[in-house]
Amino acid sequence: MQICRTKAELREAVKGFRAQNESVGLVPTMGYLHDGHMTLVRTAKAQNDRVVATIFVNPTQFGDASDLDAYPRDEDRDFALLKAEGVDAVFVPSVAEMYDPNAQTTVETEQLANLLMGALRPGHYKGVCTVVSKLFNIAQADRAYFGEKDYQQLLVVKTMVRDLDMPIEPVGVPTVREVDGLAMSSRNVRLSLEDRQAALILNKALAHGDYEISDEREVDELEAELHRFISREPRAKIETIDVRDAFTLEKPQGKINSPVVILLAARFGDVLLIDQRVCDPS
Ligand code: AMP
Repeated sequence: MQICRTKAELREAVKGFRAQNESVGLVPTMGYLHDGHMTLVRTAKAQNDRVVATIFVNPTQFGDASDLDAYPRDEDRDFALLKAEGVDAVFVPSVAEMYDPNAQTTVETEQLANLLMGALRPGHYKGVCTVVSKLFNIAQADRAYFGEKDYQQLLVVKTMVRDLDMPIEPVGVPTVREVDGLAMSSRNVRLSLEDRQAALILNKALAHGDYEISDEREVDELEAELHRFISREPRAKIETIDVRDAFTLEKPQGKINSPVVILLAARFGDVLLIDQRVCDPS
């Protein structure tokens, strides 16, 4: 596995693959890898001749400097995991390598970036779109893999690719969970034992919401029911509970009669966790 710390090194590696007519799958991550990331890698491997992973904790998508500082990192462990999975190259740039000090260009999906998590974290999706466009431009891959766990992010990236005619296919991969149902996340290691247990309420709430959903239900009613359900866990500090159209993220009017996504965000201690589930009332 080739370790590329500069853009030039990654471009050179990909040029080599392209010279042999090989297809390339890209897996962007912020590192501290778990089986969710590795599932993206395995999916990329099944669909492409070569796989490039990237590890970059992107400062422009963090609103909160302490969240950025607290983000866990372990480069050697990540490299070992990627190598064992047969990844061909990993791109691990420094912040200085990624951002010119005079950078002044950003990419933003105007509507999608500013609702839901985007409204709570102004600038977050602009940071995501800008860094993902840069990674797309540097890696020149055929496909790029993103988790459905970050549902709004996946829609934002798909929208950006459509709107800017980017020559790459974004592929969504279902959320990978621990055996007890907690969605895998690099942040889970920062949970206390009690909070780790309490956090199971998120997946339970998604299952409850899925069960409760029907074309007789109004969105507000379902959101209130989910609020009551999660509030039964005193350690959960609810940030957002949203039931939205699964394709547009608009709030459905009236009764729910087409696929929706339930999006949850809650803090356990100081750790913000998110989870989602697409539900079809029919
Ligand atoms: P991150 O390192 O958290 O930025 O995640 C990198 C990519 O892995 C994103 O596309 C995430 O949506 C995806 N991802 C993170 N956790 C999971 C999971 N539990 N299941 C599937 N994909 C995931």
